Amino acid sequence: MNTVDLITKKRDGGTLTEAEIRHLVMGYTEERIPDYQMAAFLMAVFFQGMNREETVALTQIMKNSGDVVDLSAIHGIKVDKHSTGGVGDKTTLIVGPMAAACGVPVAKMSGRGLGFTGGTVDKLESIPGFQIAISEEDFIRQVNETGISVIGQTGHIAPADKKLYALRDVTGTVENLSLITSSVMSKKLAAGSDAILLDVKCGSGAFMKTPEAAEQLAELMVEIGTAAGKNTMAVITDMNQPLGCAVGNALEVQEAIDVLKGGGPEDLRALCIQLAGRMIYLGRQAESIADGIEMAEQTLRDGSALRCLRALIAGQGGETAILEDYSLLPQSSIHLKAEAAESGYLTELDAMRIGLASQHTGAGRERKDDAIDLSAGIVLHHKVGDFVEKGEKIAEICGNDVKKVEKALEEFQSAVKIGKEMTQPAMLIYKTIRR
Ligand code: URA
Repeated sequence: MNTVDLITKKRDGGTLTEAEIRHLVMGYTEERIPDYQMAAFLMAVFFQGMNREETVALTQIMKNSGDVVDLSAIHGIKVDKHSTGGVGDKTTLIVGPMAAACGVPVAKMSGRGLGFTGGTVDKLESIPGFQIAISEEDFIRQVNETGISVIGQTGHIAPADKKLYALRDVTGTVENLSLITSSVMSKKLAAGSDAILLDVKCGSGAFMKTPEAAEQLAELMVEIGTAAGKNTMAVITDMNQPLGCAVGNALEVQEAIDVLKGGGPEDLRALCIQLAGRMIYLGRQAESIADGIEMAEQTLRDGSALRCLRALIAGQGGETAILEDYSLLPQSSIHLKAEAAESGYLTELDAMRIGLASQHTGAGRERKDDAIDLSAGIVLHHKVGDFVEKGEKIAEICGNDVKKVEKALEEFQSAVKIGKEMTQPAMLIYKTIRR
């Protein structure tokens, strides 16, 4: 097979066979095809797209490029939850324990984030002593004993996606439906769970800027997951302003604990109840989504979800005293106040810009090997729709490097719009998609 012929075939709008896609993807993964040819191919896909069969083939080839985890030693229906990424999204830390408290085994492999804040793994690492790299044997034992374990995703899961995603990141070819779908679903299918709940974000802080674009992505992901034999459901949720109030690793852990204690910001708590309810339903512990939601709410009222988080932390060597004493989490030394420039209603807290501001504090990575400051980030004191007086604190910008925190404050100010008319925040959940 000739690589140039395949690039030009896609460039001219042709449809590739499974064997042709395999030649390109495995050739690149095994370093027989250079970056420049793969970059040209990706750009051709970006403009010409892939049909359903090509997307299924690409997903399966990337999934099978590495280990496919066998979770059959874990009893029950394992449900994985995946978010397409957003600002202040700490839902895994909350819905994992909520679902586990209702008898759904949560055996989760998570990644580190590139971008605005760390991923779930970084957030968990802000808990002193927490081990994210435990053996597969310990992972399975912990889920069977406590109902939940979260570990870092190894390099052996979908290595083809790892290489391709890194190349897409630097060649302007991330935002394509087939490429995003195959990238996410190859990893989810390789991670071995029985059912998958996808939280597809839409808005300024997400890949998909509109509910319509997010719906297209969600439909395709559900189709690919279902075709692979997994019970797959997606919800389309808002990411126009950050989720909750905390953005940054240790800050988000603290906020997640607040929710599990029955408090925390209203939007975050409401979304987690909805997500956990669907996980409980997918895990067949509830007869309907509505029943699952009721059970999820109960785990916050009776403290059972918080007990599951405690078991998760204890099981993986973490300091459980952080649950009562937040000062044991990493603390930042610099706190700058972002003030309202005028009196009025907050009409916009642009998630994208606040994400960038968070990255400037040191809470997120620009390059994949960057170290992150686990204590840094942003704490919102107001959300869209609130009335603020001129000079009132809208947010606190936290970090340990004064230049970085000042740059973050400047970026944050550009994210804020204040108007005379009250604006309702966007709807939290737009739609649920299932087959
Ligand atoms: N997340 C992924 O894992 N892959 C994409 O392509 C986009 C988001």
